[in-house]
Amino acid sequence: MRLEQDLDRLGQESLEELMERTPYRVQPIARAPRRRLSLRGPLLVLLAIVLAGFFIVRPFSYHAVATAPVHPQMYSDGTYVFMKMQPNNPVLPVGYNPCLKLPVVINFAGATPDIRDTLAQALREVNAATGMHLEYVGTSQLHRRDVRNTGSILVSFDSVASDDVLDGAAAVGGSSSYDAAVAGSTQYYVGGAVTLNRDAFNGYPRDLQVAILMHELGHALGLAHAPGEHELMSAHGSGSYHFQHGDLTGLAKLGQLPCQ
Ligand SMILES: [Zn+2]
Repeated sequence: MRLEQDLDRLGQESLEELMERTPYRVQPIARAPRRRLSLRGPLLVLLAIVLAGFFIVRPFSYHAVATAPVHPQMYSDGTYVFMKMQPNNPVLPVGYNPCLKLPVVINFAGATPDIRDTLAQALREVNAATGMHLEYVGTSQLHRRDVRNTGSILVSFDSVASDDVLDGAAAVGGSSSYDAAVAGSTQYYVGGAVTLNRDAFNGYPRDLQVAILMHELGHALGLAHAPGEHELMSAHGSGSYHFQHGDLTGLAKLGQLPCQ
């Protein structure tokens, strides 16, 4: 078993660039829309309208996820790269068994107060893109280094002092797989981790936090960095907070691995 460590380079500089493209940057942490609606000023009113639309649309899209087609949309354009290919089949990526629910747990030590909502938003995007069923199931006391074959994805908060893999990164993500597959069988990931640098991530606006979670969950599910600069899975962040065509195609393929 080997940890597919992705030393994520969605680092401080690129995050600053991302933040410059968002009107949220003056807000240290996005608050609930009710609070925003009480604020004044043209920009904040616009922000409130955007957020109101956000909260109206998202529950609808959540129901859409529940009845999503088995095979999500793929595109002929865009770029994506898988973290690892099947030893016995070089065109088939390694991923999780898409026919089982994939539990996601949170270690709340050092967490942002709204991490459950933020994560839920990212999980909806990932589920829609893959056709898989990632679901928050509860708390964990584990950290990234403890994760091996837990059968789940851990979301935890750490700092460079306690986990030096976070040096220069807002977050890291990856999964463990068995090194050797039985001849003829499909290799699957058996546990993963998304580790958030609380000294960086916790101060970011909510939509950037969601984008970072989506990026790291993409790693945990089996995507490496995409060469195309506009993909959310690009090494330095794309400036977009949404999956792009290459991301979506790669995630859809990970969601179509054979059932175990
Ligand atoms: Zn990355």
